[in-house]
Amino acid sequence: MRKFKTESKKLLDLMVNSIYTNKEIFLRELISNASDSLDKLYLSALEAKDNSISRSDLKIDIVIDPDQRTLTISDNGIGMNKDELEKNLGTIAHSGSLEFKADEAKDLDKVDIIGQFGVGFYSSFMVASKVKVISRAYGSDEAACWESDGVEGYTISDAERESRGTDVILYIREDEDGEFDRFLSSLAVKHLVKHYSDYIRYPICMDVEHQEPLETNSEDASSEPQFVTVIENETLNSMIPIWTKKKSDVSDDEYNNFYKSQFYDNEDPLAVISLHAEGTVEYDALLFIPKEPPFDFYSKEYKRGLALYSSNVMIMEQCEDLLPDCFGFVRGVVDSPDLNLNISREMLQHDRQLQAIEHRIEKKVRDELAKLAKDDREAYAEWFSKFGHTFKYAIYATYGGQRDLLQDLLLFYSAREQKLITLKEYVEAMGENQHEIYFAYGDTAARLAMSPSVKSVLSKDFDVLLCSDNVDEFCLSIMNSYDDKQFRNVADESLDLGTEEEKEEAKKVEESNDGLFTAMANFLGDKVTKVVASTRLTDGAACITADGPVSLGMEKYFATLPESEERPQAKHILELNPKHSVFPVLQAAMEAGDAEKVEKFATILYSQALMAEGLDVEDPEGYTKAVLSLMK
Ligand code: ADP
Repeated sequence: MRKFKTESKKLLDLMVNSIYTNKEIFLRELISNASDSLDKLYLSALEAKDNSISRSDLKIDIVIDPDQRTLTISDNGIGMNKDELEKNLGTIAHSGSLEFKADEAKDLDKVDIIGQFGVGFYSSFMVASKVKVISRAYGSDEAACWESDGVEGYTISDAERESRGTDVILYIREDEDGEFDRFLSSLAVKHLVKHYSDYIRYPICMDVEHQEPLETNSEDASSEPQFVTVIENETLNSMIPIWTKKKSDVSDDEYNNFYKSQFYDNEDPLAVISLHAEGTVEYDALLFIPKEPPFDFYSKEYKRGLALYSSNVMIMEQCEDLLPDCFGFVRGVVDSPDLNLNISREMLQHDRQLQAIEHRIEKKVRDELAKLAKDDREAYAEWFSKFGHTFKYAIYATYGGQRDLLQDLLLFYSAREQKLITLKEYVEAMGENQHEIYFAYGDTAARLAMSPSVKSVLSKDFDVLLCSDNVDEFCLSIMNSYDDKQFRNVADESLDLGTEEEKEEAKKVEESNDGLFTAMANFLGDKVTKVVASTRLTDGAACITADGPVSLGMEKYFATLPESEERPQAKHILELNPKHSVFPVLQAAMEAGDAEKVEKFATILYSQALMAEGLDVEDPEGYTKAVLSLMK
C-alpha cells in the first residue's frame, strides 16, 4: 500500500466527506479526463506520424453492471503506464493552488469550492467506495491497475487490457436511502451525460434499455399491450458545440431550438449574439436576450448567470461573474479553453479572465439592444416595457455608476410625440431656448398629460417626458443630467419658465391682492408654505408645486409604502391663475369681507390641485361640503 501525499489526502477528505449536493459532477470530470486523453493521443499520433490512429475511432464507453454495482468509464486514449498512474493519481498533478483551496475550505463553504472548480479524478470518491483504474499506455503492451478506497492510500499492480486506453471502474456506494443507486441506472446516467457533457467532441456510447411494444397476432383490441425490453448501444452526446460555429453557419431555427431546450423558454429569443474572441483570453460565447421575463425575474428567487464551459465541458451551470447585474436577463454559454479546470491556477487569475469576458459581453449586449432600439423601435419598445425597469433600477442602485452604459437604452413616453422616445431623441428635438429636460411623474401617462404643470410646459413648446414607473424619478435624479442638460420635474417650484414680463405681472397681482393670498395661506395652515400668483398656469384655476427636495412624485411613491415606514411629504405651494375667471370672484369675496367664502374657495382649489397631481385629498368631506354649499 502506497500512501497518498498530504495534499492529496486533504482533497480526498474533502471529497469523501463532502456535503456537496451535486455529487453527480464526478461523471463530468471523468468524461472530461477521458476526452483529454483522446486529445492527447491524437496529438501524439500526429507528432509520431502514426497513421494507424484515426480520429473517428476515438471514443468513450460507459458500462453499468448493476450486480457488481460498478459504473465504468472507458476510453481508447493515451493511457497511463505504472509510473504515470503513480504520478497522476497518487498525487494531485499540478498542486500549486490546492493548498490554497484546502486552507480556504476551512473558512469557506466547501460546497462552493467543489462547485466552482471541478476537482478532477478524486471527485469519484464522492460516489464510489472503491475506484479501480486499469490502463495501458499508447505504445506499450503492458497494462497496470491502480486501486484505492480513497482513505489512506492506493495499490498499483500488473493487469491485463486488450488494447490501449483506460477504464475507470467505480464501485458505487451503498447507503440506506439508495442515494447513489441512480448512478447504476442507464437512463439516469444518459441524462447526466446529456446535461453536462453533451458537447464533448468524441462519441460517448452506452447500452441503453428501451421498452418496445411487442407485436402480437391477437385480434382482441382490449388486451393489454405487451412490451419487450430492447438494449441498444447509443451515442449519448450530440458532439458539435453550437457556440463554436460562426453565426452565418447556423440557422435561426437551430439557435431557437437550442435556446428553448437549454433555457426552458417557450418563446424564441429576441436576439442572438455570437462571440468568438482570440488573443489573450480565448473564448466562444453564445448569448440570448429573451423576449419575456421568466415568471420569477423580478423576485429574489431568480437565478442569473451564464453556463460556463471549458473546451466543451460544462464547468458551471450559472456563472454570475460573467454578467453585470443590469443584464441579468441574458442567457447563454461561454466556452473558454483558458479556463481549463487547471486546479493549479490562482483564483485571482480566473477572476481576471472572467472580468475580461464580462466586459466584452457587457458591451456586446448593450450594442445589440441599442441597435434594436434604432432599427426596430416597435419591437424594442415592447421589450423595454417588460425589462426596462431593470436598467432604471441599475442606474439608481449603482448611484449612477452604470449611467453611461445604460442611458441610451432608456425609453420614456413623450407628451408631445405621444410615443416612447430615447433621451437622445428628446435632446435632438429641443429648441434653442430650451436648456433642460422636462419630466413629470405620476400614475399613468394619460393622467399626467392632463396635469396643469405638464400642460403649462407643453404650452411653451417644450416636450415633457411622462414617467409612471416608480423608479423613474429616482433614476433621473441620480442621473442628474443627460448630454449636459439637467433633468427638471415640471412640478418643481423652482421651475422658472415665465418671461420677465409675466413675472413682473405676477408680482403686481400678489402685491395688490396681498390680503387675499395671506388669508388663504393662513386658512390652509401647514398644508401649504405659501399661496402665490402663477406664471405657469394656462387654463387651470390653481395648481400645487413642491417646495423643497421631496417632489410631488416622491410623495406619491412614499404614500404607497406601509404606514410603519417613514413617508416624507412634499411641501406644497398653492399657485393661483390670475387670468382664470374664478380669480375675480375670489377678489370680490375678499373685498366684501366674506371670509367664509374665501375659505371655501381655498379648500376647493387646494383639493382640486391635489387631485390633478394624482395625490389624495386629505379631507374629502370638507371638500364636498364646500362645493355643495356654493351650489345652493
Ligand atoms: P486534471 O484532469 O485536472 O489534470 P485529474 O485529477 O482529473 O486532474 O487527473 C489527473 C491526471 O491523471 C490527468 O492530468 C491525466 O494526466 C491523468 N488522467 C486522468 N484520467 C485519465 C485518463 N482517462 N486517461 C489518461 N490519463 C488520465
